[in-house]
Amino acid sequence: MLGWFGKRDEVAETIDEGLWESATAPYLFMRGLAPADDARLRALAGRFLARKHFSGIHDLELTPFMRVQVAAQACILVLELGIEWFDGWSEIIVYPGQFVPEREVMDEAGVVHVVNDPMAGEAWLGGPVILSYEDVAMASIEAERVAGYNVVIHEFAHKLDMRNGEPNGCPPLHAGMPLAAWRRVFTEAYGDFCRRVDEADSLAETDGGAALDALPIDPYASENPGEFFAVVSEAFFETPEWLQPAYPAVYDQLRQFYRQDPLERLAAAGD
Ligand SMILES: [Zn+2]
Repeated sequence: MLGWFGKRDEVAETIDEGLWESATAPYLFMRGLAPADDARLRALAGRFLARKHFSGIHDLELTPFMRVQVAAQACILVLELGIEWFDGWSEIIVYPGQFVPEREVMDEAGVVHVVNDPMAGEAWLGGPVILSYEDVAMASIEAERVAGYNVVIHEFAHKLDMRNGEPNGCPPLHAGMPLAAWRRVFTEAYGDFCRRVDEADSLAETDGGAALDALPIDPYASENPGEFFAVVSEAFFETPEWLQPAYPAVYDQLRQFYRQDPLERLAAAGD
């Protein structure tokens, strides 16, 4: 009987090994992944592809290579959590490059402005994930990039955060992870990082942005606690060697939440 329940929902696409290798090898988060974990990630990505619907915008033709690139990056987040963490929505919309959604925002004075800043990605509560393919592909070792930048990990971290409502930097925590500890650690680190960004910002005119570039994570993390969580999740998987020394307590909370230790992986692989 148990076997029957276990087999439910096991629909998966098969990802050819060669395709998997070529699509995933350039990404920093793949460093040190043991062969068994790599195989589990590939199988999980196959299940992800069977469950999600991709559409390309502006005649963008989504090749198997591109779909696997997205699936692998999204699935590293849930390798130890389960694909069910991405349940409840199914659309992934991919633009060829950054996109400009026009929307109205109200400022502090109550005046409504139309904003149209180009975006690399977006995650909607209960809705789609929208990605710029240029940015999806950029998150690799060879490309010229901000180290730790990974738009797919970023948007899918928002999706995990949205499991319990609006993204506020606190996804549903596992048993044994006190909410108070998470809040204390993240509030403290967020406050500290905002101060560091302000300081670096004020130096930008004289140092040409050197202090901003030297920050251990993307300054965009200072936007709000939800963005902070998404950005430290990027750093956790892509550049744990920078995140852990800068914010060890945040690293530790993320290690418990994602049930992975990317830094230990690197050490074990001798990188
Ligand atoms: Zn974001």
